[in-house]
Amino acid sequence: MSGRYAPSPSGSLHLGNLRTALIAWLQARLASHPFILRIEDLDLPRTKAGSREQMIKDLLWLGLDWDQGPDIGGPAAPYEQSQRAILYEAAFVQLLEQGLIYPCYCSRKDIQNSARAPHAHKNESIYPGSCRTPEKRAEIAQRHPNKVAAWRYRTSSRSIEFEDRILGKVSQTLDLEVGDFVVKRADGLFAYQLAVVVDDGLMGVTNVVRGADLLDSTARQIELFEVLGYPAPAFWHVPLMTDAQGTRLSKRDGSDSLNMWQQQGKSAATLIGHLAFTVGLIDEAQPLSAQELLQGLTLDQLQQRIQRGITPRE
Ligand code: GLU
Repeated sequence: MSGRYAPSPSGSLHLGNLRTALIAWLQARLASHPFILRIEDLDLPRTKAGSREQMIKDLLWLGLDWDQGPDIGGPAAPYEQSQRAILYEAAFVQLLEQGLIYPCYCSRKDIQNSARAPHAHKNESIYPGSCRTPEKRAEIAQRHPNKVAAWRYRTSSRSIEFEDRILGKVSQTLDLEVGDFVVKRADGLFAYQLAVVVDDGLMGVTNVVRGADLLDSTARQIELFEVLGYPAPAFWHVPLMTDAQGTRLSKRDGSDSLNMWQQQGKSAATLIGHLAFTVGLIDEAQPLSAQELLQGLTLDQLQQRIQRGITPRE
């Protein structure tokens, strides 16, 4: 049983990332579970040099700590996705042997031209399943003789339902709402959806606390947990932090960065108070340490206060 925070080192953590990290840490500590730091540098080309070290420094500055991670090791090491390809490969072979994945030779254009509908949540198309059958696949492969295949998971029409600890009941039908999704990309990299399930499965993660932008990935991951033989964890999709204009913070734009906060001479306790207040954990934004915040909360309060702060979903 454990909890984790799993940032991608593609830039510095902004205040929204830190708030999610704080909630993940509180959840694990209140549940008396080990807390794991995992660096999701699967996409090495998008990894920024020094970003991993900076993240570790920033989390420690905030007063968070972890029991397993890239800097201290642990029973499920390594804790960096770039070092775990062999484990993803084993899961990939397992899916292959179960007949659950198939190679796809479609170009981006093929998919755009024949997509059934735009993906419900993102600006991407639902894959129409063109390479599902060997005949059609051979025909498409012939049109793109130099194309290396991506590998897709064959989705089904069963509805996947789960009770999100913050957002409540969620359900998704993968074939209709997502389509056959990529587990290994044409450039040879394993997809986030596969890697995260293998990691959470092998690391014994029982509670996944992360930003609500990942809610849409969860049904896919529950499906993969099941077929790979791991128990699915509980999910806590926490609200994303927005700026004064209501825009989501991004690692790119540098506003609301920890650096700016520190340059103004503000303390970690002031930031913890601010983060806890903006997500409804405390009634006033007064300075307090992560430990003090922890002492004043129960696991139920953590869940209920975050829930109370969000508007009900339709
Ligand atoms: N690495 C992802 C991110 O930084 C989080 C993935 C997860 O928590 O499942 O957004």
